[in-house]
Amino acid sequence: MSPKGARIQKMGYARDILCWGVLRTHVYIVLIDCHLARITYYDHSVIIESGLLDLTKPSGKLNFAKMVKRLRSMSSEELGLARGMDAGLLTNPLTLQVPKDKKTKTTTEPPSSRLYELDGDSFFTFPYDIDSPGAGQTRIVKLGRVLARSNGVLGRGTTVVRVECACRRNLCCREGCNWAKKKLVMKLLFPGTSRVSKHVFMEKCKKLATGDHAWVLNHLPEIYCSFDIAFTDESPQQRLSNALGNTYQMRIVRGMIQEELDPLSSLKTARECAQVFYDVVQCHHWVWKYPKILHRDISQGNIMVRVKDGVTYGVLNDWDLASWVGKPEKGSTSHFRTGTKPYMAHEQQRPKWKGPHRYRHDLESVFYVMTLFTFLYSKPSEKVLDALDEDYQFEKWHQEDDKFLAKTKFNLICVSIWDPPATDFFIGFKQWLTRFHVCFYRGFQNQHNFRLDQFQDPMLEIWSKPQPQPQIQQMQSFNEETLGGFITVEYIVLIMHEFGGEELDTRGAEWQGLLRGLLGLSPAAA
Ligand SMILES: [Zn+2]
Repeated sequence: MSPKGARIQKMGYARDILCWGVLRTHVYIVLIDCHLARITYYDHSVIIESGLLDLTKPSGKLNFAKMVKRLRSMSSEELGLARGMDAGLLTNPLTLQVPKDKKTKTTTEPPSSRLYELDGDSFFTFPYDIDSPGAGQTRIVKLGRVLARSNGVLGRGTTVVRVECACRRNLCCREGCNWAKKKLVMKLLFPGTSRVSKHVFMEKCKKLATGDHAWVLNHLPEIYCSFDIAFTDESPQQRLSNALGNTYQMRIVRGMIQEELDPLSSLKTARECAQVFYDVVQCHHWVWKYPKILHRDISQGNIMVRVKDGVTYGVLNDWDLASWVGKPEKGSTSHFRTGTKPYMAHEQQRPKWKGPHRYRHDLESVFYVMTLFTFLYSKPSEKVLDALDEDYQFEKWHQEDDKFLAKTKFNLICVSIWDPPATDFFIGFKQWLTRFHVCFYRGFQNQHNFRLDQFQDPMLEIWSKPQPQPQIQQMQSFNEETLGGFITVEYIVLIMHEFGGEELDTRGAEWQGLLRGLLGLSPAAA
């Protein structure tokens, strides 16, 4: 096996173990090929390889024996099992089963390509000090179906798993369980130690969402508790941080227990989808304007659905990458270059982009989410058959790098007339997408013209002197936030307040007033 081939294969194993096994913080993989052996360590920040051990040589044998001995002496936490995890299958391997596909009842392909249930009794214990912080109290949940897991070794490694309070194992709920009859999920991720918990953001939103603003709570996730678990001094993470300093990104284990929301695929009609997108845009604007928080990671997976009293609401979920408006986090480019690649604003994917992350960048993400969703799906719960091919037009966006995406998105925006390729089911989105496109097209044209006006070259001026100078009103400044006034709330509400000729619900009094004013002023737009 070539060293490169071996690395790719091991990386695949590491990904499967970290992303599809029980909840882990890191993993060791030992590869033995003939007489050669190597151990590799993977966590969410770094991959470290040992030297090659030659098992035909005494020194190689000795080091290999030492390594095996050391691994045998490690605690489950040192071996990478997340602290608090208690999986039945680890103590009794007989409960370990190959996942069965519920529909076909047959054994399916390796788990790396599908979700699975943590079968048997798997529990997770976490700090729960809501009443008296620092009291060292804990709470236990029983893990159920895994709803989402990220698919990579490096990064936040988010897992969303359905849970229920394990009251019976636990004394926390003696006086009646406060989570009874609630659909709960636990979200577990590994953010850098400096990241603000989204719980803090949501608390701020809750505080301001009163009176005329209370509507927004229908569109925000309900978080029941959150917790951080730091790595101990004995953990490899802490030791690596001590040894490598700032070059190693130290992370924490962060968890949240929140209400389970439904995915976009649960929707039945194109109109419902339109309302959900409109809801999310309204909520996103409110959070940006009032609590002054910018989401910064709008993607298909972060747009969720809540059904309450028979009404369907769009919910903007996953505020893990959010930041306070105007207070960018200190640190490397990666701190402000945030998002999910296929949906990031194209400027952010340019190598020279230096921020800041603006409100309009998130709106550009909404535009890509709608474009991809309405093209790749024949209905909300069903992908177009061709889209299973990785080379399929927009499906490719999920595989490609920043360079490809920056260029492709720029080309999409800069084509003067664009025909949105929505499937028949989503045909009503064509008008929305065309209008969104026109706003971005004009905005970026405007930005381009402004930059051209600023460009002065003496040589070109000499050349142009004999010719009469056209009287051009030179712009003194350019509003980057709105791309010269083309990406504004006014345009958004005009585009999205109706869908296929039917009025959608404009939720807040502020936007309702804005819309009435706009329709009164410009009846042509109605
Ligand atoms: Zn309980």
